[in-house]
Amino acid sequence: MPIYDYQCAECGVEFEQLVRGGAKVACPACAATKVERRMSVTARPANGSARGPDLSRLGPPPGGCCGGGCGSHSH
Ligand SMILES: [Zn+2]
Repeated sequence: MPIYDYQCAECGVEFEQLVRGGAKVACPACAATKVERRMSVTARPANGSARGPDLSRLGPPPGGCCGGGCGSHSH
């Protein structure tokens, strides 16, 4: 459940509010509903670990056919 930071546009007070779908947010100080939503620093991203493949680990392996030892013996 997301918690958002809000700032009242009327009196300027900042507050956090737990938001359930479509709920109205009102200032706790002056009860104004004219508030601005800000990004909460307490909320964590739900899928922060979702990433693409690590391309830096792809590519030809170093050393070729036998791990770089080709020069030390004959094939
Ligand atoms: Zn207010």
